[in-house]
Amino acid sequence: MEREWEKWEDKHKGMFDPVLRNHDTIGLLAMDKEGNIAGGVSTSGWANKMPGRVGDSPIIGAALYVDNEVGAACATGLGENVIKTAGSFLVVEKMREGYSPLEACKIAVNRLKKIHSKEKNHQVAYIALNKNGEHAGYSYKNGFEYAVVTNNSSQLIQAAFLNK
Ligand code: ASP
Repeated sequence: MEREWEKWEDKHKGMFDPVLRNHDTIGLLAMDKEGNIAGGVSTSGWANKMPGRVGDSPIIGAALYVDNEVGAACATGLGENVIKTAGSFLVVEKMREGYSPLEACKIAVNRLKKIHSKEKNHQVAYIALNKNGEHAGYSYKNGFEYAVVTNNSSQLIQAAFLNK
């Protein structure tokens, strides 16, 4: 078992990023016809994580936050960074202040840039939805996509990003 872990660790050296390690939290934000908002996240966890590690998905305000008066946000990527910035809560609070979903997601990603200026090799991405049904996604690094499904359409959107 330990040998397997060492082999795996060797293969993934330098890949601190759970997305590069092929893991990804699935986040869903939904609005019903009355305009009520709900959300959920389901994490893949993180293969070969430290024993006892708690990711961002079970922590309210980290990988998910929903306030039916304002909107909702969820995150994927390196959970430690999302937790340290109370990321989804931050996005929703920024929408409460009047920022658009895209602006709010950008603020949360930029907060990461400030606290992790030396650590470039990680990914965090947010999606957000407000009470007007406006939505956005924004990621730290390139390559994040999110899907938008309505009664009449379904599309995959390439999110804007901060760093290549
Ligand atoms: N956010 C998850 C975590 O850090 C990783 C993932 O995106 O699955 O636990």
